[in-house]
Amino acid sequence: MTAARLQKLEGKIVLPGEPLATIEEFLPEEGVYVDNGVIRAAIYGKVRIDSRNKRIRVEPIKATLKIPRRGEIYYGFVSGIIREDLALIKLVFDSQMERLSGTFTGVLHLSQASDRRIESVYQVIRLGDFVRVQVVNEHPLLLSIKQPQLGVVAAFCSNCGAILYRKPGIDHLVCKRCGNRELRKVSTYYMFVDRG
Ligand SMILES: [Zn+2]
Repeated sequence: MTAARLQKLEGKIVLPGEPLATIEEFLPEEGVYVDNGVIRAAIYGKVRIDSRNKRIRVEPIKATLKIPRRGEIYYGFVSGIIREDLALIKLVFDSQMERLSGTFTGVLHLSQASDRRIESVYQVIRLGDFVRVQVVNEHPLLLSIKQPQLGVVAAFCSNCGAILYRKPGIDHLVCKRCGNRELRKVSTYYMFVDRG
């Protein structure tokens, strides 16, 4: 592993299932698991690397007590699509990726989902997507993914469950495992980018 890639990995916030390194590179410790020689994050947390002893672990992140306010940015999962024009998003982390201690579920309406004219929220998000949202109203909790920095930051293939990758210049997200292509309203913060 190059020093640059190693430096990028240290302190990185990762999601469960995210590939980190190989067993040739590190000895896996807490918060990771090995799958076909690849060390993956087992929990949501921060990567910690002990380069002298070639050890890698993922450290859990402490929860923060916070109530969503108008204008603030959060991360969450699409927990329900209740109508063609309404989705539910369960907020999990604040903008600094600090875990929220309370449970907040906000509503995303079609009108706040895209700059483009769309007919259904299925054109921009899917159940289980990890999204970056902004609070536009507190009571009820209404969310937006309209801005370029907002939207889907991690998505999984609805065909095989693997991570979907963003390829610069291509509108669709691409599954490297089965070749499936899917549309999302992708955030500029999208986590998995294939520059190959
Ligand atoms: Zn797939």
